[in-house]
Amino acid sequence: MASSVTMEKLVNLCKSRGIIFPGSEIYGGMGNTWDYGPIGVEIKNNLKKLWWKRFVQESNNSYGVDAAILMNARVWDASGHTASFADPKMDCKNCKTRHRADTLIENHSHGAVNPDAMSNEEMEEYIKANNVVCPRCGKCDFTPIRQFNLMFETSRGVTEDGQNKIYLRPETAQGEFVNFLNVQRTTRAKVPFGIAQIGKAFRNEVTPGNFIFRTIEFEQMEHQFFCKEGTDVEWYEYYKNVAMQFLLDLGIAAENLRYKDHDKLAHYAKAACDIQYNFPIGWSELNGIHNRTNYDLSRHQEYSGKNIQYVDPMTNEKYIPYDIEYSIGADRLMLAILSEAYEEQTLENGETRVVMHFHPAVAAHKAAILPLQKNLGEKAKEILKSLQKYFSVTYDEAGSIGKRYRRQDEVGTPYCITVDFDTLEDNTVTVRDRDTMEQIRIPVENLVSFLTEKTAW
Ligand code: ATP
Repeated sequence: MASSVTMEKLVNLCKSRGIIFPGSEIYGGMGNTWDYGPIGVEIKNNLKKLWWKRFVQESNNSYGVDAAILMNARVWDASGHTASFADPKMDCKNCKTRHRADTLIENHSHGAVNPDAMSNEEMEEYIKANNVVCPRCGKCDFTPIRQFNLMFETSRGVTEDGQNKIYLRPETAQGEFVNFLNVQRTTRAKVPFGIAQIGKAFRNEVTPGNFIFRTIEFEQMEHQFFCKEGTDVEWYEYYKNVAMQFLLDLGIAAENLRYKDHDKLAHYAKAACDIQYNFPIGWSELNGIHNRTNYDLSRHQEYSGKNIQYVDPMTNEKYIPYDIEYSIGADRLMLAILSEAYEEQTLENGETRVVMHFHPAVAAHKAAILPLQKNLGEKAKEILKSLQKYFSVTYDEAGSIGKRYRRQDEVGTPYCITVDFDTLEDNTVTVRDRDTMEQIRIPVENLVSFLTEKTAW
Protein backbone atom coordinates (compact mmCIF):
# COMPACT_ATOMS: atom_id res chain seq x y z
CA MET A 1 0.00 0.00 0.00
CA ALA A 2 1.24 3.47 -0.77
CA SER A 3 1.84 5.23 2.55
CA SER A 4 -0.37 8.25 1.83
CA VAL A 5 -3.48 6.31 0.85
CA THR A 6 -6.61 5.92 2.96
CA MET A 7 -9.84 4.19 2.07
CA GLU A 8 -11.63 7.54 2.09
CA LYS A 9 -9.20 9.05 -0.43
CA LEU A 10 -9.63 6.04 -2.71
CA VAL A 11 -13.42 6.12 -2.54
CA ASN A 12 -13.42 9.85 -3.37
CA LEU A 13 -10.96 9.53 -6.23
CA CYS A 14 -12.85 6.56 -7.66
CA LYS A 15 -16.11 8.46 -7.58
CA SER A 16 -14.80 11.71 -9.03
CA ARG A 17 -12.77 10.08 -11.79
CA GLY A 18 -15.30 7.51 -13.04
CA ILE A 19 -13.57 4.48 -11.58
CA ILE A 20 -16.22 3.18 -9.13
CA PHE A 21 -19.56 4.69 -8.10
CA PRO A 22 -21.85 3.72 -5.18
CA GLY A 23 -24.53 1.29 -6.45
CA SER A 24 -28.05 2.67 -7.19
CA GLU A 25 -26.85 6.06 -6.04
CA ILE A 26 -29.79 8.19 -7.21
CA TYR A 27 -32.07 6.05 -4.99
CA GLY A 28 -29.93 6.67 -1.95
CA GLY A 29 -27.68 3.70 -2.66
CA MET A 30 -27.90 0.01 -1.88
CA GLY A 31 -25.56 -0.98 0.94
CA ASN A 32 -22.29 -2.45 -0.24
CA THR A 33 -22.96 -2.61 -3.91
CA TRP A 34 -20.70 -0.69 -6.25
CA ASP A 35 -20.84 0.11 -9.96
CA TYR A 36 -17.72 0.30 -12.07
CA GLY A 37 -17.52 3.45 -14.20
CA PRO A 38 -15.84 4.05 -17.57
CA ILE A 39 -12.30 3.90 -16.14
CA GLY A 40 -12.98 1.20 -13.55
CA VAL A 41 -14.53 -1.26 -16.00
CA GLU A 42 -11.46 -1.02 -18.24
CA ILE A 43 -9.08 -1.65 -15.33
CA LYS A 44 -11.10 -4.56 -14.00
CA ASN A 45 -11.41 -6.07 -17.48
CA ASN A 46 -7.65 -5.76 -17.87
CA LEU A 47 -7.09 -7.54 -14.56
CA LYS A 48 -9.39 -10.36 -15.66
CA LYS A 49 -7.68 -10.57 -19.05
CA LEU A 50 -4.23 -10.73 -17.46
CA TRP A 51 -5.37 -13.40 -15.04
CA TRP A 52 -6.82 -15.44 -17.91
CA LYS A 53 -3.63 -14.94 -19.92
CA ARG A 54 -1.53 -16.29 -17.07
CA PHE A 55 -3.77 -19.16 -16.00
CA VAL A 56 -5.30 -20.31 -19.29
CA GLN A 57 -3.63 -18.83 -22.34
CA GLU A 58 -0.03 -19.32 -21.18
CA SER A 59 -0.72 -22.68 -19.58
CA ASN A 60 -0.36 -25.91 -21.49
CA ASN A 61 -2.73 -27.81 -19.29
CA SER A 62 -5.47 -25.49 -18.04
CA TYR A 63 -8.82 -24.94 -19.69
CA GLY A 64 -11.48 -22.31 -19.22
CA VAL A 65 -15.20 -22.65 -18.54
CA ASP A 66 -18.06 -20.23 -17.99
CA ALA A 67 -20.66 -22.11 -15.98
CA ALA A 68 -24.19 -20.99 -15.10
CA ILE A 69 -24.64 -18.90 -11.96
CA LEU A 70 -27.85 -20.75 -11.12
CA MET A 71 -27.11 -24.41 -10.49
CA ASN A 72 -29.13 -27.42 -9.45
CA ALA A 73 -29.78 -26.97 -5.72
CA ARG A 74 -28.26 -30.41 -5.01
CA VAL A 75 -24.88 -28.95 -5.97
CA TRP A 76 -24.95 -26.91 -2.76
CA ASP A 77 -25.93 -29.93 -0.68
CA ALA A 78 -22.96 -31.79 -2.11
CA SER A 79 -20.58 -28.89 -1.58
CA GLY A 80 -21.72 -28.46 2.02
CA HIS A 81 -22.93 -24.89 1.52
CA THR A 82 -26.57 -25.53 2.47
CA ALA A 83 -25.50 -27.12 5.73
CA SER A 84 -22.59 -25.00 6.80
CA PHE A 85 -21.76 -21.93 4.75
CA ALA A 86 -22.37 -19.65 7.65
CA ASP A 87 -20.81 -16.85 9.66
CA PRO A 88 -21.04 -16.46 13.46
CA LYS A 89 -23.47 -13.58 13.83
CA MET A 90 -24.27 -11.56 16.98
CA ASP A 91 -26.68 -8.66 17.39
CA CYS A 92 -25.94 -5.75 19.68
CA LYS A 93 -28.93 -5.66 22.06
CA ASN A 94 -28.43 -1.97 22.67
CA CYS A 95 -28.22 -0.46 19.16
CA LYS A 96 -29.55 -3.46 17.18
CA THR A 97 -26.62 -3.64 14.78
CA ARG A 98 -25.35 -6.97 13.49
CA HIS A 99 -21.76 -8.13 13.76
CA ARG A 100 -19.52 -11.07 13.05
CA ALA A 101 -18.14 -12.40 16.31
CA ASP A 102 -14.85 -13.42 14.66
CA THR A 103 -14.32 -9.93 13.21
CA LEU A 104 -15.04 -8.29 16.60
CA ILE A 105 -12.36 -10.45 18.19
CA GLU A 106 -9.85 -9.94 15.42
CA ASN A 107 -10.25 -6.17 15.52
CA HIS A 108 -10.21 -5.99 19.31
CA SER A 109 -6.99 -7.99 19.54
CA HIS A 110 -5.44 -6.29 16.49
CA GLY A 111 -5.00 -9.68 14.91
CA ALA A 112 -3.19 -11.20 17.91
CA VAL A 113 -6.06 -13.62 18.66
CA ASN A 114 -7.21 -15.98 15.94
CA PRO A 115 -10.98 -16.57 16.20
CA ASP A 116 -10.86 -19.22 13.43
CA ALA A 117 -9.45 -21.61 15.99
CA MET A 118 -12.32 -20.96 18.48
CA SER A 119 -15.73 -22.54 18.95
CA ASN A 120 -18.82 -20.31 19.22
CA GLU A 121 -18.83 -20.72 23.00
CA GLU A 122 -15.17 -19.76 23.21
CA MET A 123 -15.82 -16.66 21.12
CA GLU A 124 -18.75 -15.63 23.35
CA GLU A 125 -16.61 -16.11 26.46
CA TYR A 126 -13.71 -14.16 24.98
CA ILE A 127 -16.00 -11.25 24.07
CA LYS A 128 -17.43 -11.07 27.61
CA ALA A 129 -14.13 -11.59 29.42
CA ASN A 130 -12.30 -8.98 27.37
CA ASN A 131 -15.16 -6.51 27.23
CA VAL A 132 -15.19 -6.42 23.43
CA VAL A 133 -17.65 -3.66 22.64
CA CYS A 134 -20.01 -2.90 19.77
CA PRO A 135 -18.14 -0.68 17.28
CA ARG A 136 -21.33 1.37 16.80
CA CYS A 137 -22.50 2.15 20.36
CA GLY A 138 -19.61 1.04 22.58
CA LYS A 139 -21.68 -1.40 24.72
CA CYS A 140 -20.76 -5.01 25.39
CA ASP A 141 -24.24 -6.50 25.31
CA PHE A 142 -24.66 -9.04 22.55
CA THR A 143 -27.09 -11.85 21.76
CA PRO A 144 -25.60 -15.37 21.71
CA ILE A 145 -23.90 -16.33 18.46
CA ARG A 146 -26.11 -17.73 15.71
CA GLN A 147 -24.85 -19.22 12.50
CA PHE A 148 -26.12 -17.22 9.53
CA ASN A 149 -26.16 -18.85 6.08
CA LEU A 150 -24.60 -16.60 3.50
CA MET A 151 -26.30 -17.93 0.39
CA PHE A 152 -28.87 -15.76 -1.38
CA GLU A 153 -32.00 -17.77 -2.08
CA THR A 154 -34.38 -17.30 -4.91
CA SER A 155 -37.08 -19.47 -6.45
CA ARG A 156 -37.60 -20.84 -9.87
CA GLY A 157 -40.90 -20.77 -11.74
CA VAL A 158 -44.23 -19.42 -10.60
CA THR A 159 -44.52 -20.76 -7.07
CA GLU A 160 -42.40 -19.82 -4.13
CA ASP A 161 -42.59 -23.05 -2.18
CA GLY A 162 -39.43 -24.69 -0.95
CA GLN A 163 -39.38 -27.18 -3.82
CA ASN A 164 -38.33 -24.51 -6.27
CA LYS A 165 -35.71 -22.99 -4.07
CA ILE A 166 -32.43 -22.24 -5.84
CA TYR A 167 -29.41 -20.18 -4.90
CA LEU A 168 -27.21 -17.52 -6.41
CA ARG A 169 -23.86 -19.26 -6.39
CA PRO A 170 -21.67 -18.18 -3.46
CA GLU A 171 -18.50 -19.24 -5.29
CA THR A 172 -17.59 -20.16 -8.84
CA ALA A 173 -15.68 -23.32 -7.90
CA GLN A 174 -18.62 -25.71 -8.13
CA GLY A 175 -19.02 -24.86 -11.84
CA GLU A 176 -15.53 -26.21 -12.37
CA PHE A 177 -16.11 -29.36 -10.30
CA VAL A 178 -19.37 -30.37 -11.97
CA ASN A 179 -17.71 -30.00 -15.37
CA PHE A 180 -14.62 -31.97 -14.45
CA LEU A 181 -15.38 -34.91 -16.73
CA ASN A 182 -16.88 -32.77 -19.51
CA VAL A 183 -13.66 -30.80 -19.75
CA GLN A 184 -11.39 -33.81 -19.33
CA ARG A 185 -13.15 -35.82 -22.03
CA THR A 186 -13.57 -33.06 -24.59
CA THR A 187 -9.99 -31.83 -24.28
CA ARG A 188 -8.54 -35.32 -23.71
CA ALA A 189 -6.61 -33.75 -20.84
CA LYS A 190 -4.44 -35.99 -18.75
CA VAL A 191 -4.14 -35.49 -15.01
CA PRO A 192 -2.62 -33.17 -13.88
CA PHE A 193 -4.66 -30.42 -15.50
CA GLY A 194 -6.56 -27.32 -14.45
CA ILE A 195 -9.98 -25.74 -14.97
CA ALA A 196 -10.30 -21.97 -14.68
CA GLN A 197 -13.28 -19.70 -14.44
CA ILE A 198 -14.06 -16.04 -13.91
CA GLY A 199 -17.54 -15.11 -12.81
CA LYS A 200 -19.91 -13.51 -10.37
CA ALA A 201 -20.51 -14.86 -6.89
CA PHE A 202 -23.00 -13.67 -4.28
CA ARG A 203 -22.83 -13.78 -0.49
CA ASN A 204 -25.23 -12.32 2.00
CA GLU A 205 -22.31 -11.14 4.12
CA VAL A 206 -23.15 -10.31 7.74
CA THR A 207 -20.81 -7.37 7.83
CA PRO A 208 -19.92 -6.24 4.35
CA GLY A 209 -17.93 -3.07 3.99
CA ASN A 210 -14.63 -1.39 3.43
CA PHE A 211 -15.47 -0.24 -0.07
CA ILE A 212 -15.06 -3.14 -2.53
CA PHE A 213 -13.13 -5.33 -0.08
CA ARG A 214 -16.22 -7.27 1.02
CA THR A 215 -19.39 -6.87 -0.99
CA ILE A 216 -22.50 -8.97 -1.42
CA GLU A 217 -21.92 -9.40 -5.16
CA PHE A 218 -18.41 -9.82 -6.51
CA GLU A 219 -16.35 -11.58 -9.12
CA GLN A 220 -14.06 -14.50 -8.50
CA MET A 221 -11.21 -15.83 -10.58
CA GLU A 222 -10.72 -19.46 -9.64
CA HIS A 223 -8.40 -22.17 -10.83
CA GLN A 224 -8.81 -25.80 -9.79
CA PHE A 225 -5.79 -27.96 -10.49
CA PHE A 226 -6.52 -31.70 -10.50
CA CYS A 227 -3.57 -33.93 -9.69
CA LYS A 228 -2.85 -37.39 -8.40
CA GLU A 229 -2.75 -37.99 -4.66
CA GLY A 230 0.89 -38.00 -3.64
CA THR A 231 1.81 -35.16 -5.99
CA ASP A 232 -0.57 -32.73 -4.28
CA VAL A 233 1.89 -31.32 -1.76
CA GLU A 234 4.26 -30.33 -4.52
CA TRP A 235 1.51 -28.75 -6.64
CA TYR A 236 0.20 -26.86 -3.63
CA GLU A 237 3.62 -25.26 -3.14
CA TYR A 238 3.82 -24.62 -6.88
CA TYR A 239 0.52 -22.73 -6.96
CA LYS A 240 1.45 -20.71 -3.86
CA ASN A 241 4.40 -19.44 -5.90
CA VAL A 242 2.41 -18.91 -9.09
CA ALA A 243 -0.25 -16.95 -7.21
CA MET A 244 2.40 -14.73 -5.60
CA GLN A 245 4.24 -14.19 -8.88
CA PHE A 246 1.01 -13.08 -10.57
CA LEU A 247 0.60 -10.31 -7.98
CA LEU A 248 4.24 -9.24 -8.22
CA ASP A 249 3.99 -9.11 -12.00
CA LEU A 250 1.00 -6.79 -11.70
CA GLY A 251 3.31 -4.36 -9.97
CA ILE A 252 2.45 -5.01 -6.32
CA ALA A 253 5.52 -4.54 -4.11
CA ALA A 254 6.78 -7.67 -2.35
CA GLU A 255 6.80 -5.87 1.01
CA ASN A 256 3.02 -5.44 0.77
CA LEU A 257 2.36 -9.16 0.28
CA ARG A 258 2.72 -12.08 2.64
CA TYR A 259 1.60 -15.69 3.04
CA LYS A 260 -0.62 -16.57 5.96
CA ASP A 261 -1.23 -20.22 6.72
CA HIS A 262 -4.69 -21.10 8.02
CA ASP A 263 -4.59 -22.18 11.66
CA LYS A 264 -7.83 -24.09 11.47
CA LEU A 265 -8.33 -26.33 8.43
CA ALA A 266 -11.69 -27.44 7.07
CA HIS A 267 -12.13 -31.16 7.81
CA TYR A 268 -11.41 -32.12 4.19
CA ALA A 269 -8.48 -29.77 3.61
CA LYS A 270 -4.91 -30.90 3.83
CA ALA A 271 -3.37 -27.44 3.69
CA ALA A 272 -4.62 -23.89 3.19
CA CYS A 273 -3.07 -20.48 3.09
CA ASP A 274 -3.95 -16.96 2.05
CA ILE A 275 -1.87 -14.34 0.40
CA GLN A 276 -2.53 -11.19 2.33
CA TYR A 277 -2.10 -7.64 1.10
CA ASN A 278 -1.36 -4.63 3.24
CA PHE A 279 -4.67 -2.87 2.47
CA PRO A 280 -5.50 0.57 3.93
CA ILE A 281 -7.54 -1.43 6.51
CA GLY A 282 -4.46 -3.52 7.42
CA TRP A 283 -3.17 -6.93 6.35
CA SER A 284 -6.09 -8.92 4.94
CA GLU A 285 -6.79 -11.84 2.64
CA LEU A 286 -6.37 -11.13 -1.05
CA ASN A 287 -6.52 -14.70 -2.29
CA GLY A 288 -6.60 -18.26 -1.02
CA ILE A 289 -4.76 -21.44 -2.00
CA HIS A 290 -6.19 -24.70 -0.70
CA ASN A 291 -5.31 -28.36 -0.96
CA ARG A 292 -8.91 -29.65 -0.99
CA THR A 293 -7.94 -33.33 -1.44
CA ASN A 294 -10.49 -35.28 -3.49
CA TYR A 295 -13.34 -34.04 -1.30
CA ASP A 296 -15.32 -31.98 -3.82
CA LEU A 297 -15.26 -34.46 -6.69
CA SER A 298 -16.02 -37.34 -4.30
CA ARG A 299 -19.00 -35.49 -2.89
CA HIS A 300 -20.34 -34.77 -6.37
CA GLN A 301 -19.91 -38.42 -7.27
CA GLU A 302 -21.85 -39.38 -4.15
CA TYR A 303 -24.65 -36.82 -4.52
CA SER A 304 -25.11 -37.10 -8.31
CA GLY A 305 -24.79 -40.87 -8.40
CA LYS A 306 -22.53 -40.48 -11.46
CA ASN A 307 -19.13 -42.05 -11.69
CA ILE A 308 -16.68 -39.19 -12.05
CA GLN A 309 -13.47 -41.11 -11.67
CA TYR A 310 -10.57 -40.33 -13.93
CA VAL A 311 -9.14 -43.26 -15.88
CA ASP A 312 -5.40 -43.07 -16.43
CA PRO A 313 -4.92 -43.87 -20.15
CA MET A 314 -1.49 -45.45 -19.57
CA THR A 315 -2.22 -47.66 -16.58
CA ASN A 316 -6.03 -47.90 -16.64
CA GLU A 317 -5.97 -46.93 -12.99
CA LYS A 318 -9.23 -45.30 -11.86
CA TYR A 319 -9.19 -42.61 -9.23
CA ILE A 320 -10.64 -39.29 -8.13
CA PRO A 321 -7.89 -36.68 -8.35
CA TYR A 322 -6.87 -34.25 -5.65
CA ASP A 323 -7.62 -30.57 -6.18
CA ILE A 324 -5.41 -27.56 -5.53
CA GLU A 325 -7.71 -24.56 -5.51
CA TYR A 326 -6.53 -21.02 -6.12
CA SER A 327 -9.15 -18.34 -5.73
CA ILE A 328 -8.93 -14.55 -5.94
CA GLY A 329 -11.62 -11.90 -5.99
CA ALA A 330 -11.38 -9.59 -9.02
CA ASP A 331 -12.80 -6.73 -6.96
CA ARG A 332 -10.50 -7.35 -4.03
CA LEU A 333 -7.59 -7.45 -6.45
CA MET A 334 -8.86 -4.17 -7.89
CA LEU A 335 -8.76 -2.66 -4.39
CA ALA A 336 -5.20 -3.88 -3.87
CA ILE A 337 -4.17 -2.47 -7.25
CA LEU A 338 -5.80 0.89 -6.47
CA SER A 339 -4.17 1.05 -3.02
CA GLU A 340 -0.79 0.13 -4.41
CA ALA A 341 -0.93 2.60 -7.29
CA TYR A 342 -1.97 5.69 -5.30
CA GLU A 343 0.59 8.39 -4.67
CA GLU A 344 0.43 12.04 -3.67
CA GLN A 345 3.49 13.89 -4.88
CA THR A 346 4.59 17.38 -4.05
CA LEU A 347 5.90 19.02 -7.20
CA GLU A 348 8.70 21.56 -7.52
CA ASN A 349 6.18 24.40 -7.77
CA GLY A 350 4.67 23.31 -4.46
CA GLU A 351 1.49 21.82 -5.97
CA THR A 352 0.40 18.30 -5.16
CA ARG A 353 -0.37 15.80 -7.84
CA VAL A 354 -2.24 12.55 -7.29
CA VAL A 355 -0.86 9.89 -9.57
CA MET A 356 -1.97 6.29 -9.99
CA HIS A 357 1.07 4.21 -10.90
CA PHE A 358 -0.77 1.31 -12.54
CA HIS A 359 1.24 -1.16 -14.56
CA PRO A 360 0.63 0.04 -18.16
CA ALA A 361 -1.04 -3.29 -18.97
CA VAL A 362 -3.52 -2.64 -16.14
CA ALA A 363 -4.21 1.05 -16.87
CA ALA A 364 -7.60 1.84 -18.39
CA HIS A 365 -6.10 3.81 -21.28
CA LYS A 366 -2.62 3.25 -22.60
CA ALA A 367 -2.35 6.82 -23.82
CA ALA A 368 -4.21 10.12 -23.99
CA ILE A 369 -4.06 12.26 -27.09
CA LEU A 370 -3.93 15.94 -26.19
CA PRO A 371 -3.93 18.63 -28.89
CA LEU A 372 -2.11 21.67 -27.53
CA GLN A 373 -4.82 23.87 -28.99
CA LYS A 374 -8.28 23.08 -30.28
CA ASN A 375 -7.35 23.92 -33.87
CA LEU A 376 -4.93 20.98 -33.82
CA GLY A 377 -7.89 18.68 -33.20
CA GLU A 378 -8.05 17.32 -36.71
CA LYS A 379 -4.48 16.03 -36.67
CA ALA A 380 -4.89 14.78 -33.09
CA LYS A 381 -8.01 12.80 -34.03
CA GLU A 382 -6.22 11.27 -36.96
CA ILE A 383 -3.53 9.99 -34.57
CA LEU A 384 -6.21 8.83 -32.13
CA LYS A 385 -7.92 6.79 -34.83
CA SER A 386 -4.68 5.13 -35.91
CA LEU A 387 -3.96 4.01 -32.32
CA GLN A 388 -7.50 2.96 -31.35
CA LYS A 389 -7.19 -0.08 -33.58
CA TYR A 390 -4.61 -1.49 -31.22
CA PHE A 391 -5.12 0.10 -27.81
CA SER A 392 -7.62 1.74 -25.56
CA VAL A 393 -6.69 5.41 -26.06
CA THR A 394 -8.50 8.49 -24.82
CA TYR A 395 -8.75 12.06 -26.09
CA ASP A 396 -8.94 15.34 -24.20
CA GLU A 397 -8.90 18.86 -25.55
CA ALA A 398 -10.54 20.70 -22.66
CA GLY A 399 -8.55 22.99 -20.35
CA SER A 400 -4.90 23.87 -19.97
CA ILE A 401 -2.34 21.20 -20.83
CA GLY A 402 -1.25 21.08 -17.16
CA LYS A 403 -4.79 20.33 -16.00
CA ARG A 404 -5.15 17.67 -18.66
CA TYR A 405 -1.94 15.98 -17.52
CA ARG A 406 -3.26 15.97 -13.93
CA ARG A 407 -6.53 14.35 -15.00
CA GLN A 408 -4.66 11.58 -16.81
CA ASP A 409 -2.29 11.11 -13.83
CA GLU A 410 -5.30 10.60 -11.57
CA VAL A 411 -6.64 7.75 -13.68
CA GLY A 412 -3.15 6.36 -14.26
CA THR A 413 -2.80 6.82 -18.03
CA PRO A 414 0.87 5.94 -18.59
CA TYR A 415 1.50 8.17 -21.62
CA CYS A 416 0.22 11.55 -22.73
CA ILE A 417 0.77 12.29 -26.40
CA THR A 418 0.75 16.00 -27.13
CA VAL A 419 0.07 17.24 -30.63
CA ASP A 420 1.50 20.71 -31.32
CA PHE A 421 2.26 22.91 -34.33
CA ASP A 422 5.55 21.11 -35.00
CA THR A 423 3.51 17.94 -35.47
CA LEU A 424 1.99 19.48 -38.59
CA GLU A 425 5.47 20.21 -39.91
CA ASP A 426 7.48 17.08 -39.05
CA ASN A 427 4.88 14.51 -37.96
CA THR A 428 6.40 14.07 -34.49
CA VAL A 429 4.67 14.26 -31.11
CA THR A 430 5.70 14.76 -27.50
CA VAL A 431 5.21 11.71 -25.31
CA ARG A 432 5.09 12.39 -21.58
CA ASP A 433 5.78 9.60 -19.11
CA ARG A 434 3.27 9.54 -16.23
CA ASP A 435 5.75 8.44 -13.55
CA THR A 436 8.86 10.47 -14.40
CA MET A 437 6.99 13.33 -16.15
CA GLU A 438 9.85 13.29 -18.66
CA GLN A 439 9.01 14.11 -22.25
CA ILE A 440 10.45 12.75 -25.46
CA ARG A 441 9.77 13.58 -29.07
CA ILE A 442 8.93 10.66 -31.34
CA PRO A 443 7.65 10.22 -34.91
CA VAL A 444 3.94 9.45 -35.18
CA GLU A 445 4.68 6.29 -37.17
CA ASN A 446 6.62 4.89 -34.17
CA LEU A 447 3.74 5.28 -31.70
CA VAL A 448 2.27 1.81 -32.22
CA SER A 449 5.56 0.01 -31.65
CA PHE A 450 6.41 2.34 -28.74
CA LEU A 451 3.11 1.64 -26.95
CA THR A 452 3.20 -2.07 -27.80
CA GLU A 453 6.56 -2.41 -26.14
CA LYS A 454 5.75 -0.24 -23.14
CA THR A 455 2.39 -1.80 -22.31
CA ALA A 456 3.34 -5.46 -22.80
CA TRP A 457 2.84 -7.90 -19.92
P1 ATP B 1 -13.10 -13.84 3.77
O1 ATP B 1 -12.38 -14.59 4.86
O2 ATP B 1 -12.49 -12.50 3.46
O3 ATP B 1 -14.58 -13.80 3.95
P2 ATP B 1 -13.15 -16.25 2.32
O4 ATP B 1 -12.03 -17.00 2.95
O5 ATP B 1 -14.54 -16.59 2.64
O6 ATP B 1 -12.89 -14.69 2.45
P3 ATP B 1 -13.03 -17.52 -0.19
O7 ATP B 1 -14.31 -18.19 -0.03
O8 ATP B 1 -11.77 -18.32 -0.10
O9 ATP B 1 -12.93 -16.28 0.77
O10 ATP B 1 -13.07 -16.70 -1.55
C1 ATP B 1 -11.95 -16.54 -2.38
C2 ATP B 1 -11.66 -15.09 -2.67
O11 ATP B 1 -12.84 -14.40 -3.09
C3 ATP B 1 -11.16 -14.30 -1.47
O12 ATP B 1 -9.79 -14.48 -1.28
C4 ATP B 1 -11.50 -12.89 -1.87
O13 ATP B 1 -10.50 -12.36 -2.75
C5 ATP B 1 -12.79 -13.05 -2.65
N1 ATP B 1 -13.97 -12.77 -1.82
C6 ATP B 1 -14.57 -13.61 -0.95
N2 ATP B 1 -15.65 -13.02 -0.39
C7 ATP B 1 -15.73 -11.78 -0.93
C8 ATP B 1 -16.64 -10.69 -0.78
N3 ATP B 1 -17.69 -10.76 0.03
N4 ATP B 1 -16.41 -9.57 -1.50
C9 ATP B 1 -15.38 -9.47 -2.35
N5 ATP B 1 -14.49 -10.47 -2.54
C10 ATP B 1 -14.66 -11.61 -1.85
